[in-house]
Amino acid sequence: MIPSCPECGTPGVPLLFGLPVAEAIDAAGDGDLALGGCVIREPAPNWQCPAGHQWRDADERAWDQRLQAVLSAHGYRP
Ligand SMILES: [Zn+2]
Repeated sequence: MIPSCPECGTPGVPLLFGLPVAEAIDAAGDGDLALGGCVIREPAPNWQCPAGHQWRDADERAWDQRLQAVLSAHGYRP
């Protein structure tokens, strides 16, 4: 289940920190995920909406599942 932005109600995309793999950069180009760079704030947000709002959702499993789905849709094979 994809959480919606608490500010504007738009469904979010997974927000990924750290050095992204090529498929993640590709996915970010299509708007399927967001790249947060290398600076990690605590508590780190893990979702972002198309308007750029970032928030933290406690359901790490949903985040992980969505991220894996997006990466495999862009050709990533672990
Ligand atoms: Zn928003």
